[in-house]
Amino acid sequence: NQSLHEFDPDVAAAIDAELHRQQSTLEMIASENFAPPAVLEAQGSVLTNKYAEGYPGRRYYGGCEHVDVVEQLAIDRVKALFGAEAANVQPHSGAQANAAAMFALLKPGDTILGLDLAHGGHLTHGMRINFSGKLYDVAAYHVDEHTGRVDMAEVEKLAHEHRPKLIIAGWSAYPRQLDFPEFRRIADEVGAYLMVDMAHFAGLVAAGLHPSPVPYADVVTTTTHKTLGGPRGGVILSRQEYAKKIDSAVFPGQQGGPLEHVIAAKAVAFKAAATDEFRERQARTLEGAAILADRLGAADLSEIGVSVLSGGTDVHLVLVDLRASSLDGRQAEDRLHEVGITVNRNAVPNDPRPPMTTSGLRIGTPALATRGFTPTDFAEVADIIAATLKPSFDPTLLRPRVSKLAAKYPLYE
Ligand code: PLP
Repeated sequence: NQSLHEFDPDVAAAIDAELHRQQSTLEMIASENFAPPAVLEAQGSVLTNKYAEGYPGRRYYGGCEHVDVVEQLAIDRVKALFGAEAANVQPHSGAQANAAAMFALLKPGDTILGLDLAHGGHLTHGMRINFSGKLYDVAAYHVDEHTGRVDMAEVEKLAHEHRPKLIIAGWSAYPRQLDFPEFRRIADEVGAYLMVDMAHFAGLVAAGLHPSPVPYADVVTTTTHKTLGGPRGGVILSRQEYAKKIDSAVFPGQQGGPLEHVIAAKAVAFKAAATDEFRERQARTLEGAAILADRLGAADLSEIGVSVLSGGTDVHLVLVDLRASSLDGRQAEDRLHEVGITVNRNAVPNDPRPPMTTSGLRIGTPALATRGFTPTDFAEVADIIAATLKPSFDPTLLRPRVSKLAAKYPLYE
């Protein structure tokens, strides 16, 4: 019955240090967020002890009466949140959700069509050494070099050329909205399923601030920890006709016992995502990203080779293009780290630099919006980032500005 600090001071110290890092720096990794205390409490609960293979009311273990309640709440809430016919809340992660959805709809050797990883797609959308690239034949679409937007004419052309069984619409690094009706039209033309992976923008969809893919897609997958702000995990939404296949693809197809403590935390997050407060937070997330895009696209930065891909953003992130800059993605990421802003370097389309270096930065606003940042704060953040990317970079002047913002919004206190 010892506490973590008593029993394992080494792990406790690392966790304390991570808490301090999150509190004292500005988290701008676009796929990250701060889960609220109620979510952390559910995830750290005794539900971690329970085996519950199967589904509510149909388990292979005894004693599931309480986890059944929890899992059914999660299912009902996420269906209501997104207006979906069916939901599976058991995938351990976004990658697992995608694997199970593909397992349900495809056979090995079938063809899939997804956004190229180097143009903003995800590993699970057909990357060569991912399961998706190994199990399936892959065709990849791209963003247009001039507009920075997904080239729908190319999607249509490739769909006719390759006759995919599944088209995947979704992204990990793309600053614009996708045209779901157009993806549906193309999928129908070639008799393909349409899967939308809304992992990144699910929170915006839940808030009604981004078009919903649910009316157009056969299957919609998501993570629960990005804009949605819940525990780390995955969800599959689908039309009723695919529900049985998807359930059996998750368990026993891909996974064993579901993580009921995480499912409880998902249920809490779905409850939170249906509130006005959540909607207001997503609105600030979008405002913050628009302010970043505006200020990082300013003329004095373009003079030193720094610009914003696609010229702006419709979502919670901005992609900074450093192809014309002497500063590469890694150097820019390191400089921002030095002043206390955490981002990730990211390859940009047609990146001339190697993948470990890159010529881009992906900068997201969800975590800071959760922290309470207002448009005025986001303008200050944007100015700090701009000053960090300039040759006159002086961390001794910028770090105190970051600390001041962090102190203004206490976290987990
Ligand atoms: N799908 C998309 C679009 C993502 O961006 C990610 C994560 O980065 C995933 C799936 C995978 O999620 P996870 O890291 O939970 O496996």
